Amino acid sequence: MDNIDNMNDRENIEKEYKKFLNDLEENLKDNPDFEYIKAKFIKLMLLFFDEIDYMREQYDEKIEKILERQSYFEDKINKVEELANGIEEEMRLNEEVEDRMITELLHPHLRNYDNDTECEVTCPYCGELFYIHVEGVEKEITCPYCDNPIEVDWNDSDNDKK
Ligand SMILES: [Zn+2]
Repeated sequence: MDNIDNMNDRENIEKEYKKFLNDLEENLKDNPDFEYIKAKFIKLMLLFFDEIDYMREQYDEKIEKILERQSYFEDKINKVEELANGIEEEMRLNEEVEDRMITELLHPHLRNYDNDTECEVTCPYCGELFYIHVEGVEKEITCPYCDNPIEVDWNDSDNDKK
């Protein structure tokens, strides 16, 4: 973009320069000093164009360095963001594990429900859900929440689960 603008500027200046040269030629060609003035003018303009080209090169180099530095910092920022996301995810996972551990500590009967050896029971008195071991096969258990005795009919509770 900047380069194209620069090019246009340079082209415009060259156009103006040629226009001025033609004008000089038309109006001063009978002047005995015309060739001298023209030569001086062209020399000056060549210096001027050299300076423009040099400035443009400097300018392009600077822009290139700025863009390089910009992409360097963008890379850095991306890496920091990735790192931060990783830490966030890790913290979230840790929190999940902590939550589960706290829940298990507070409610040991909720620990790792296992289909083969444990059975889900909903207390008919307080509505709380908990798990009992199938191995014990007791006819009557006590709700860990409200301490009410619950009669267990194993066939029924199997149907309830479905
Ligand atoms: Zn209960």
